[in-house]
Amino acid sequence: MITWEESCHRCGLCCFEKSVDPKGRFFTTKTPCRHLDIISRECRVYDKRLEVGEGCVKLNPEVVRNADWLPEGCAYRTISGRGTGDEECD
Ligand code: SF4
Repeated sequence: MITWEESCHRCGLCCFEKSVDPKGRFFTTKTPCRHLDIISRECRVYDKRLEVGEGCVKLNPEVVRNADWLPEGCAYRTISGRGTGDEECD
């Protein structure tokens, strides 16, 4: 059985800044977190990510249920029944 963390696509889209339109819809911008390696899409400070002051959030099922800012194609959203599962995640 696949674990929660193993289900992540490692697309890194959750690590790009978000913008919100007047209707409250979230969009992923092209601006990455300064700690994201944009080639490997891995966080350079993963083990300390919650301590470096970038507002990083530890994703768990409860957080994902309320995280409208996660991209539609996020694996965690799909598992939680909140994503389309068909959006490209690259
Ligand atoms: S957006 Fe979702 S699938 Fe992509 S890296 Fe972040 S948590 Fe993983």
